[in-house]
Amino acid sequence: MGNSRNSQFILVDCNNFFVSCERAFQPELRGKPVVVLSNNDGCFVSRSNEAKALGIPMGAPLFQYEHVIKLHDIKTFSSNFLLYGDMSNRVMSILEQFTENIEIYSVDEAFLQVDDLSPEQLLALGKEIKARVYKWTGIPVSVGVAHTKTLAKIAAHEAKKSDSLGGVGVLGLMGDVNEILKKTPAGEVWGIGYRSAKTLQSYGINSAYDLTLWPDKSIRKVLSVSGLRTVTELRGTPCIPLEDSFHPRKGIMCTRMFGKVLTEFDEIYEAVVSYTTRAIEKLREQRSVATHISTYIRTDLHSGTKEQYSQMYTYVLEVASDYTPDFIKAAEICLKNIYKPGFRYKKAGVMIQNITQKENMQYSLLKKPEPVEDGKKARAMEAIDRVNQKWGSQKLRPLASGLKQEWRSKRGQMSPCYTTNWEELLEITL
Ligand SMILES: [Mg+2]
Repeated sequence: MGNSRNSQFILVDCNNFFVSCERAFQPELRGKPVVVLSNNDGCFVSRSNEAKALGIPMGAPLFQYEHVIKLHDIKTFSSNFLLYGDMSNRVMSILEQFTENIEIYSVDEAFLQVDDLSPEQLLALGKEIKARVYKWTGIPVSVGVAHTKTLAKIAAHEAKKSDSLGGVGVLGLMGDVNEILKKTPAGEVWGIGYRSAKTLQSYGINSAYDLTLWPDKSIRKVLSVSGLRTVTELRGTPCIPLEDSFHPRKGIMCTRMFGKVLTEFDEIYEAVVSYTTRAIEKLREQRSVATHISTYIRTDLHSGTKEQYSQMYTYVLEVASDYTPDFIKAAEICLKNIYKPGFRYKKAGVMIQNITQKENMQYSLLKKPEPVEDGKKARAMEAIDRVNQKWGSQKLRPLASGLKQEWRSKRGQMSPCYTTNWEELLEITL
């Protein structure tokens, strides 16, 4: 699928994901206030709509709200990352039945790229996606459809808020796009962020609509090239292609279809090492550490009648880490637990969970910090990251990720707007 207006992006976003996972197994909690807590610091990491309505803020510490919890009998859960990882995997497998052109953006969000159907057909497709995910997993989702990823995000957000849309928003059917953009604060636009919102205000830019009217030159100066890409997308021209990884706080995923069917453990292991390396690089980029790594593999869902296999395994590190070899070892254990010979594998992925900021890192009682050893590891990772930032991603990588990497996919890599956007001319840095 090319980089043109001849396709549509569908964002599927699980509503209150962790809470919804808990509710899927305890349906009696539907309609009642429920919160999920981070497992270390006791902060709210997921809230049901009822809990939001009672004024429980995202990220606030539990102890400040004990009285509200008691008063309204709010049900609280600790994070169950094994459950959330597994539920995420199930949701994503269902989404993959609709198209191979999918970017799993986070544990609870994915972009699908589909042909440019009529708005009514897109609405029907969106409703079917929502219904199938709910029927098979019990997870409610919001769906947004538009010509660009950035607009699909806005459409999904509108769909989530509105009762009349039934959770599915097709931008072409939601009234005047400019009116929607006028209602959307600039800081809420995907890729702009609240930090830039303050700066933008000083230029008189408050809404997404204001952004679209701003001259490219100013956008580039204040928001850099990536900001201009975002605004170009707000104007309706796709610029941000589907990708194979992402880095939010809830969970890092790195997953992708193989370029060909794989059957041997060693080949799949190379791919898993490569994904793990990339995911942990992302983890370090955001100065975080994590304890949980899940690895999953699956056969080709689109191959028709052949026997299918899909499995995931999670390994928990004793101490949170950002050191790639720790996770590669863990991923190997995971893969050994799930790999079965005789199947034709088409996809693998890794998921990193229980992510915390490195400066808040907690050591276990069994394992004390080892400053000298830890310092060496940190410097090694820093050096590798620096080389890769300068010379290109994965220039320095573990040998275990393979030399030829024949499993790599050659598809689904929509390139930047090299030929249609002056800001995205191919850059060569030496
Ligand atoms: Mg969500």
